[in-house]
Order: sequence, then structure tokens, then C-alpha cells
Amino acid sequence: MLALGAPAVLPRDSRAEVFSSLGYRRQSDDPIRLSSNENPLGIPPASREAILQGLGGANRYPGTSRRALTQALADKHGVPTEALVLGNGSTEILQMAVQARLDPALRLVSPTPTFEDVFEYSEPHPWIDLRTIPLLPDFAHDLSAMEEATQGAQGPVLVYVCNPNNPTGSLTSVDDVEDWIRLAPENVHFLVDEAYFEFVDADSYRSLDRLAVENPNVVVARTFSKVYGMAGLRLGYGIAHPETARALRAFAAGPNCNHLVLVAGLAALADPDWVGTSVAANLESRLVAYGILDELGLEYLPSHTNFVMHRISGDLSLYIRRMAEAGIRVGRPFPPMLDFNRCSFGLPEEMERHAETLREFRRKGWI
Ligand code: PMP
Repeated sequence: MLALGAPAVLPRDSRAEVFSSLGYRRQSDDPIRLSSNENPLGIPPASREAILQGLGGANRYPGTSRRALTQALADKHGVPTEALVLGNGSTEILQMAVQARLDPALRLVSPTPTFEDVFEYSEPHPWIDLRTIPLLPDFAHDLSAMEEATQGAQGPVLVYVCNPNNPTGSLTSVDDVEDWIRLAPENVHFLVDEAYFEFVDADSYRSLDRLAVENPNVVVARTFSKVYGMAGLRLGYGIAHPETARALRAFAAGPNCNHLVLVAGLAALADPDWVGTSVAANLESRLVAYGILDELGLEYLPSHTNFVMHRISGDLSLYIRRMAEAGIRVGRPFPPMLDFNRCSFGLPEEMERHAETLREFRRKGWI
């Protein structure tokens, strides 16, 4: 028999208890994974239970579970079900957004550095006119320069907004993005990626979900991979005007999410404690990371996500290799920020190992 190994309701007050109650333990010789902005807590216990129970329905096509999850997401966002598009991870939403706007004259405007998937989905179409705009000194998107880059286009323009931004963990003013969207001409389309939405700690920040439903030129992408810890299950969604949502769905494979991930997502949404638990655990690890970076005087960008971009000294590839040799996988290079490393937050005890490793690197003169 399969054991769940975790209580249905998690204690709120003791993080250590939460971690051990979840029962997700790294084998001692596995590397610590601080490389892909995953959630070290694992999936919510309610989702594990839903998957086990859902196995009984895995011989059926997933129409019922699709409808149930779509309805739950519509309720969560206060939008009609027609505004939702399910994806095999939110990256599939990014892919659909590029495909739905394909045109011989398509221009793609993006900040840099940022999450690379939109560039990758444009690669099979080398005629796409790619304009990358460096971030501002405070690591917000340079919206004026991005807006300028949309001008003079002969066809559609797709603007990628990653807020908070990966890999910098920084915010761009939602008011300013919204002002631009409201004034933008009809040929300019916006893909707003809110993958790290729940981790943001700023009163001025909000989702553009409602605006997306009103405005056919806006798609908002969200994921279950980060706060809900379901990166390996693959579940994301887009929110858009019903006509835009229909246009996106045309590029998805039939029922593109399997029954088990759909019931897992539904159970995760129904758990009233999970997001709070997950955000609190992330904050604890973030503080351990800040602590060692302060101690060693390594500059870092204040993070609104589950990772931090911090300065290193010396060669980045060598640093990544040395970390791997010490049993810790850290983030890949994000040119042009080659004197920074992106480090995802693991469990607090994993962050302590990371901190100790950084101290040792300092003793050896490597950072
Ligand atoms: N958007 C951003 C900004 C990301 O950082 C990631 C993953 N790291 C994704 C989208 C894709 O996530 P997923 O496909 O797992 O939902």
C-alpha cells in the first residue's frame, strides 16, 4: 500500500515541524538543488492524496477534472471559465502565446536578462525580429525603451513582461505596465509572466489577471511549479480575453494536462494553508541566504521570488563547477550578468550547507 507520509493539515507555527512532517528528504549523497527555482517542500499533501485517489480514474479521458480545475481557477481569479487556458506547465502558455501571434512581420520585445523560454520558442522562426532591452539599474524592466522598441513595426509586436523577473527577482511597477497596456496601439500584444506571484512582498504589486480578461491584447501566465511545488507534474495556465484564450488553445495538444495533475492542482487550490506555509518556508530560507551574503559582503538583489541573484568574484563557470563539486547545484549563467550567480532557496538546512560552502570558498580566496 502507498503511504502518504504527511498530515493533511500542516502546523502553522513551526517551520521545522512542517519540513519534517512533509517527509520529503534528500538522500545524503544527492546534490542539493539550488539551480531551478523549485520548491523544496514538495507537492502539497492534499495533492499527493488526490493523485493516489485519482489513479482509479486514470483510464478515462480527463474532461471532468479539466472542467473542475478550470472552474476552480475561474473562481480564484474572479474571471469566466472561457478566459482560462490550461498548459503543460506555464511554459506551454508562453509557447502558445508566441505561436498564436506568428506572422511574417512579428517583432518580439523582451527585457534582458530574463527567463529564456520565449526566445527559445521564437527560435524555429528565425525571421522574428527580436529586440532585447537591458534592465534598468534597479533591475526593473526599462518600459520606456521597450515601448520605443515597439514603434515602427509593420506587423504585430509581442512584448514579454516577466514580473517578478527571473533571474533578478526584481519587480517592475504594475501601474506603469498597466498604463502602457491601456495606451498601446492594437498591434502590440503583452505576455505577462507572473510565475513567482505569491512570493512577492510589496503592496504596490498585483496581478494583471482582470485586465487580461478585458483586453484581447494581454495574456497572463501563472504556474503550479513554484509556490505549489509541482514542477515535475507540469501544470500552468493562462488568463486572457475569451477570444484570445481560444486563439491560444488552438496551439495546445488536445487534452494537454493529464488527469492526475489536474486533480493534484485542484486539491492544492482547495488547501487553505498551503500558500502561507510555502511562502513562510521560502522567507526563512531567503533570510539564511541574505545572512551569509551580508556576512561575506557579497552584493545581492533583494528578491521577490524563491531565488536570489548575488555577486561572486572570479569566473562564473568555475564557481558553478566548484559548487557542484561541493555537492550543490546552483543556477546557470545569465549573460550579461556574468559576475552574479542565481541561487534558488532550498530548505533552511540546505541553505546552511550553502552558507558553509560559501564561507569555505572565501577562506580559499575563491569568492
Ligand atoms: N516563467 C518563469 C519566469 C519561470 O522562471 C519559469 C520556470 N523557471 C517558467 C515560466 C516556467 O515554469 P513552468 O513551465 O514549470 O510552469
